Amino acid sequence: MNQSPASTEAVPRLARVIPRDGHPISRSKISPEALRVLYRLREAGFEAFLVGGCVRDLMVGLEPKDFDVATDALPEQVKRLFRNCRLVGRRFRLAHVFFGREIIEVATFRASGGPPIADEVDDTEEDIVDPSILDDEDLDADDGYEDDGIARDANGDINGNIDPHYVPQPTGAHPASGGMVSGQGGERLVDESGRILRDNVYGSIDEDVWRRDFTCNALYYNIADFSVWDYCGGFEDVQARRLRLIGDPETRYREDPVRMLRAARFEAKLGFSFDPATAEPVERLRELLGGVPPARLFDETLKLFLTGHGVRSYEVLRAHGLLEMLLPNVADFSRRYPGSPPEQMLLRGLADTDARVRADRPVSPVFLFALFMYGPIGLRIEQAPRRMWHDTSTILDAFDDVARAICQRIAIPRRFMLGVREMFLMQPRLEAPRGRRALRTLEHPRLRAAFDLLQLRADFGMADPAIVEWWGKLQAASPAQRTQMSASAAQEGAGPGEGGDDTAAGGDGDGPRRGRRRRGGRSRRGGRGGSSGA
Ligand code: ATP
Ligand code: MG
Repeated sequence: MNQSPASTEAVPRLARVIPRDGHPISRSKISPEALRVLYRLREAGFEAFLVGGCVRDLMVGLEPKDFDVATDALPEQVKRLFRNCRLVGRRFRLAHVFFGREIIEVATFRASGGPPIADEVDDTEEDIVDPSILDDEDLDADDGYEDDGIARDANGDINGNIDPHYVPQPTGAHPASGGMVSGQGGERLVDESGRILRDNVYGSIDEDVWRRDFTCNALYYNIADFSVWDYCGGFEDVQARRLRLIGDPETRYREDPVRMLRAARFEAKLGFSFDPATAEPVERLRELLGGVPPARLFDETLKLFLTGHGVRSYEVLRAHGLLEMLLPNVADFSRRYPGSPPEQMLLRGLADTDARVRADRPVSPVFLFALFMYGPIGLRIEQAPRRMWHDTSTILDAFDDVARAICQRIAIPRRFMLGVREMFLMQPRLEAPRGRRALRTLEHPRLRAAFDLLQLRADFGMADPAIVEWWGKLQAASPAQRTQMSASAAQEGAGPGEGGDDTAAGGDGDGPRRGRRRRGGRSRRGGRGGSSGA
């Protein structure tokens, strides 16, 4: 029998311990790096557990995207154990242990008065978009597009791994270099809605557990004897595929409204369903998401839509009335024109993105936000007189309006927003290719993304399929063939598709009704883009 403090003998009375033969978690499914960290901590006499999403995912047979370790070692003690370790976070320090590209996050147990897990993110990032500064000279700004035209995420790697844990905000209140501070001594500041603004300090596992959000995220896998510790019924909840907040749901949502989005994400990702008490307050409290820092909502949006379950996330958010809180103009468009070609296009784009994630190919926030903005931009363009729909100024005005509205909620880094804008500005250029300009367009760093959008538009009757085919051929052609193709396009005065009447957002002026009639159909001159509201 194990003598360390982490052996089952040391289990606080309230934890249920599920021995190795009572649960399905096998070490062969745990990353070797995470195991190394766990064993090293244990050899040094500390408690060491896997905790959070990785335990939950292992229980249901999914491959975890990251492994989080919880321990009673203080951050400084963890640092001393690993050469490849950095301490991050100022208010609550976490240890990041590096193994090449893989990072194992090691967190000291939090005290009951300790800092909230993941409820704040540093939103002072210099990169946040301010649509009023989206000027023309930025058009060629590079956002790190790959050869295939798809950008990496803000961290340079999106494939199911965009989740750097949030680093809590500094208060300067805790001792950076160790020294256990009692949980009771921690200060806590709560705003008028009940949201935790700040508090501090480290604690023990039976305090740590209550800081976590859902019972399914609060299971601890003990490296000492491979048992799973469950304080709050998470084991049954995972088996029943149930999402249940720990504690009083209303209080927990008020502390951190992002938990509503996390619940939706877990429903989308895992197919779990909300426990009734966890579901009930959402409608009443969803407005609280309006007070969440937009930088955090940007990160949540990427986790919702760029990690392989984007279509489900869209459906689940809509079903819980949460899409309104995250992307109000997208929700509004969907409500007014359900099943319209732009919405179908959005769903197809999300499905394509999900498939790319599954195939381990890079995916792009630029493309994602272009999909979201397409319908609302089309609506806005159609408020202008029809003859102006192709004017750059009309497209830019519409873009700026929609971008401004979105960025009030979601802090989309400027380089991504510039990319989206370019994709929209390129649509009329792609639809009416002229001579040398077409050749120059071929070199444009955003061509692939803009072309993908054009293709999707054509698939839903919002652009001319012939022009898509022409660009497809041009891209595949030899240099000599390219010159010839662009020259003949020049002679025809306009490109093979002539651009038609489509707006950048794919409208042809017949209002949303036509689009609904033509659902899924194709038309040479564009089916329906946004809508005129006529
Ligand atoms: P995934 O990694 O699949 O996105 P996850 O549950 O691991 O899901 P993370 O954001 O990685 O989510 O968080 C790790 C753990 O930290 C969670 O499982 C949960 O225990 C805790 N946690 C994260 N965010 C919160 C929060 N807002 N409130 C309370 N606990 C949280
Ligand atoms: Mg995780």
